[in-house]
Amino acid sequence: MHAKLLKEVEEEVTKFLCELIRINTTNPPGNETVAAKYVAESLRSEGFECEILESAPERGSVITRLKGTGEKPNLLLLSHLDVVAADAKEWSVDPFGGVVKDGFVWGRGALDMKGMTAIEVMVMKLLKRNGVKLKGDVILAATADEEQGGLSGADYLLRNHPEKIYAPYVLNEGGGSAMPTRNGNVFTVQTAEKGILWFKVKAKGTPGHGSMPNVADNAIMRMNKVIAKLGNYQSKVSLVPTVKKFLEELARQDPTLKEPFTRLLRTPERSDQILDELSKTTPQLAEEIRPRLKMTVTPTIIHGGIKENIIPSECETVFDCRILPGQESTQTIGLIKTLLGEVDSEKLVFKELQTQEPSESTAETPLYTTIANVLQEFEHNCGVTPMLTTGGTDSRFFRRKGSVCYGFHPMYPEIVSGKIIKLEHGIDERISIKNLIFGTSVLYETVKNFMT
Ligand SMILES: [Zn+2]
Repeated sequence: MHAKLLKEVEEEVTKFLCELIRINTTNPPGNETVAAKYVAESLRSEGFECEILESAPERGSVITRLKGTGEKPNLLLLSHLDVVAADAKEWSVDPFGGVVKDGFVWGRGALDMKGMTAIEVMVMKLLKRNGVKLKGDVILAATADEEQGGLSGADYLLRNHPEKIYAPYVLNEGGGSAMPTRNGNVFTVQTAEKGILWFKVKAKGTPGHGSMPNVADNAIMRMNKVIAKLGNYQSKVSLVPTVKKFLEELARQDPTLKEPFTRLLRTPERSDQILDELSKTTPQLAEEIRPRLKMTVTPTIIHGGIKENIIPSECETVFDCRILPGQESTQTIGLIKTLLGEVDSEKLVFKELQTQEPSESTAETPLYTTIANVLQEFEHNCGVTPMLTTGGTDSRFFRRKGSVCYGFHPMYPEIVSGKIIKLEHGIDERISIKNLIFGTSVLYETVKNFMT
């Protein structure tokens, strides 16, 4: 059976998204309350009771709930209202204009993630309009501050109002996009995300004249050794359940991947060699898989020196380290300190900047099964796979509280002039109206099937 696309919501969901994009919620400062009020007004006009909760003035999140009978666990439809900055000079349209052009809604947040807010609001309205008899509560929360770490949004709400927002099941951003393969589309469900460990290393030295290098002790030279040491560190390969299933599913869908991925699954310790070979034919895929197999440490900011002829006594570097589910930040910090000690035990100072633990939800749940079944109704023989993202989302706060969280914003690949475009946080971010309808239809069927 093929499920039907809800073409009748096209105008409504498009208009809602355009209006939401026009409310500038660039974070910082965020100013999400205006957007929260807009979402609330739209829902109230259909009889929903909404609450706006502010973690600080103008940092509002909106929550509403459709009551169920209590026979099934509750489900939260989560999204965030803030967006990252956009430089209008670089765009071909006004990033906050909410323009419809060439079959797309253009604007900052169209993909990340006001597009999904629009879909989730539409799903709530449809459940109510159609009088769907829910066996559990369906909660909608559109929150502040995700792009700056979520402490003033999802984390704040979970800490201060858990009774209003917590649910055992959560659908959020992070996955849902289809990957085209030889045998058709494979839809992703984000079940895991890497953790973040941002840290700074300061190298100290003794200043001197640039013309007499051996008289001084150059902090930049010491930092050079630190970068080489951390850069060359061979972290252990770890196949977390999500990545294992991801490789298996892709191998099943694409016969050309069967051989390399079977080898990778059997001998993960040889992953670098296997991925080097794979990158000769599919470089993009190989490099997307590589950081999903181990911890990565990347220098991202460096400061040192003040003048052409002065050997600096200090040099600082910021590192962006990402760890896999199962790895702990405290252990990783211990490891990094050991490596620094091998370079120099006295003249290096480690400072932790920010930590977010990794998280993973099992794919062995009735919600995952429902998602897979619904996708099959829309596209016969499509693949569905759990996926780990290297970046983080608000899902981590809910996974920490025990929720099963899936990143699932159902989308076909956006293809322009024969090429797949990926524009989250990018210039000319946009979502096709086709995908707004598809996303609404799949999410509606998923929620309806899961909750009845
Ligand atoms: Zn986002």
